[in-house]
Amino acid sequence: MELWFSERHTPNVKLSIRVDKQLFSGKSDFQRIDVFDSPEFGRFLVLDGYMMLTEKDEFIYHEMITHVPMAVHPDVKNVLVIGGGDGGAVRELVRYDDIERIDLVDIDRMVTEVCLRYLPFTACGLNDSRVHTYFEDGLRFVRTKKNEYDLIIVDSTDPFGPGEGLFTREFYGNCYVALRDDGIMVNQHESPFYGEDALACQRAHKRIVESFPVSRVYQAHIPTYPSGHWLFGFASKKYHPLKDLNEARWNARKLACRYYTTTLHKGAFYIPAYVEELLSNVEHAD
Ligand code: SAM
Repeated sequence: MELWFSERHTPNVKLSIRVDKQLFSGKSDFQRIDVFDSPEFGRFLVLDGYMMLTEKDEFIYHEMITHVPMAVHPDVKNVLVIGGGDGGAVRELVRYDDIERIDLVDIDRMVTEVCLRYLPFTACGLNDSRVHTYFEDGLRFVRTKKNEYDLIIVDSTDPFGPGEGLFTREFYGNCYVALRDDGIMVNQHESPFYGEDALACQRAHKRIVESFPVSRVYQAHIPTYPSGHWLFGFASKKYHPLKDLNEARWNARKLACRYYTTTLHKGAFYIPAYVEELLSNVEHAD
């Protein structure tokens, strides 16, 4: 008998992955948490039935959500990661010796506990002495911060359920206040392809444009996400993601990546015409 995990991307489209076995199934106060093992994608994490990350392709997302801002900002010392309880973004950040502190704020302790046990390939950086983990709502946590972080990474679930508040004007405005004068915020910005996802992408973009002087969107190809075309938001108080990219400085670090390069960094910000239109339609709308 074959076992399959299926995620509904639209009422008419599903992604199905053949599964060898289910390693974990549980329910926290916030969401259902499942971990599977599969021949094609290895182990993967599912929250409330939605694919979060797989052993085979998570490097794409975690490299792109961290190295893009790190190749632009010249001196990141304090980082805030909101969401990201699986540890993948933190794993990439701890590769930078000059980062002094990483505050990781995930609403769900169970996610981190499950990832430490079943997904060591993402959770391996969580034990770094610079990482301070808080299990609380990121929306509340960031309200208390002012002029503290050089970089905020919003590595959230989608804009419903516990993650809904992380796509609001209030949240982005509080991130602006929590950042230092030359701070950068990067967020997972959904996808432009399917209707519902594109609306979520437009809503987030409009609210970020209203909160930051520099706001761009970049892309990556993530096979297990809806349509495979995934976007990230780059919002900044000062630095431009292309004009202030310092290739020589980042390449001198000799951080071996499997997806990110400073050349790809430039290409990632050249998005398709239909996506430019989708986003520009909300940039000047009242
Ligand atoms: N990093 C993975 C990836 O490759 O896309 C998936 C994202 S990560 C698992 C999403 C995390 O956001 C979850 O662990 C979830 O508990 C957390 N989260 C959702 N809403 C939150 C909130 N309001 N505050 C803090 N964390 C939240």
